[in-house]
Amino acid sequence: MVNHSKPFDIIVVGAGPGGASAAIHAAENGYSVCLLEKEPLGITGRYKACGGAIDWKMVEALAYPEEKIARVIDSLELHHLDGESYSKKGEGAVVWRSVFDKYLADVAVAHGVVIKDDEPLVAIEKQGPMYTISTTKEKYQATYVLASDGISSPTLRKLDWPRFPREDLILTITQEMKISKQTIAKFLGHSSLHLFFSIKSLSHLGYAWLFPKIDRITVGWGNQLIRINKSREEFNLFLNMPFVKDLLKNSTTERFKGHLIPVSVRPQLFKENVYAVGDAGGLVDPISGKGIPYAIESGQIAINTIKLCENKGVQYKQGHYYEETLGKDFLQLLREKRVARDRIYQNDQTLKQFLTLWEKHRSSEIVRRGLI
Ligand SMILES: Cc1cc2nc3c(=O)[nH]c(=O)nc-3n(C[C@H](O)[C@H](O)[C@H](O)COP(=O)(O)OP(=O)(O)OC[C@H]3O[C@@H](n4cnc5c(N)ncnc54)[C@H](O)[C@@H]3O)c2cc1C
Repeated sequence: MVNHSKPFDIIVVGAGPGGASAAIHAAENGYSVCLLEKEPLGITGRYKACGGAIDWKMVEALAYPEEKIARVIDSLELHHLDGESYSKKGEGAVVWRSVFDKYLADVAVAHGVVIKDDEPLVAIEKQGPMYTISTTKEKYQATYVLASDGISSPTLRKLDWPRFPREDLILTITQEMKISKQTIAKFLGHSSLHLFFSIKSLSHLGYAWLFPKIDRITVGWGNQLIRINKSREEFNLFLNMPFVKDLLKNSTTERFKGHLIPVSVRPQLFKENVYAVGDAGGLVDPISGKGIPYAIESGQIAINTIKLCENKGVQYKQGHYYEETLGKDFLQLLREKRVARDRIYQNDQTLKQFLTLWEKHRSSEIVRRGLI
């Protein structure tokens, strides 16, 4: 095994949106950065099971090229299987995560970040002030480590950090379907995402979705892991709904994948120069499962924390500053949403009450103002 000769300031593990954004921000601030990714990124990036819905504000903030957008959207159509429907307006985009993550990785390279893809972390060790990370190919050293390697975070597992409680894991199933543009337009319209809810007949603590892209549909379903008996059969309940069956009649399946979403904040977010970022820290909206913006923000906040503490000479306060800044931005809100989620998913009545409110208000406003 080769030793990478010069230590980096920061090693970022995982080139999802959290890791790539953190690496870009670190390089912009003058740090030497190595971004390690388990999968080969190639020309087109790697597949990631994800709806890929983002706000238009994010498209602008990242200068995300319009030609890389899989569909521009202006509404979320919320369907309760009892028959009620709600329409939530809002500008956004749907992206393929392979394309989105590759774009961010390319920006990182343009900023001078060293990317090592197809190189999973297999071990991490602390020797004095330095971390040594071994991949399947090399060893690298750095002062700081950002664990942005997703919900199962091998980095944090190897460091023996506390895990997520099983009750806070949502199991999702994603099926990517090839379908004609005409069928999408006929059944789903040109610019809407469709979400389906029912506690009694679809998901105890989640929902199902149809996210149209150009000539594909991402079909998904999620439910609390501990409540699932036979995930495939429960997912099929959605596929067998008459509307969905009709829509997908002439489509072909290209991918089928299960993936977990964490819906509570990890009990620890920092220790000894290691930061948990994005899904690795459980920084996901517990009501909607939205995680891309929190991954990006937490990665940037981790870098700001490193810089601030170095400048002030108070490295021992990193954990405090990281949690404090995350807290001001969104951590407290995510915790409040985790509590509110249990009220929302008590029964179909409370769920419909939430959908009625969600049509007109942001979910943060519903939670903060105690509307539910
Ligand atoms: C089905 C589904 C639908 C979703 N839909 C949406 C949505 O529409 N909008 C939204 O905002 N959020 C959505 N989310 C949530 C969103 O996907 C995550 O919150 C987001 O990807 C988190 O980004 P991240 O950078 O923290 O981690 P990830 O995107 O999970 O990236 C982690 C990276 O680490 C790499 N890695 C793992 N192990 C190693 C290792 N040993 N060494 C090196 N690298 C490693 C992985 O290959 C991966 O590239 C969805 C999630 C799921 C499961």
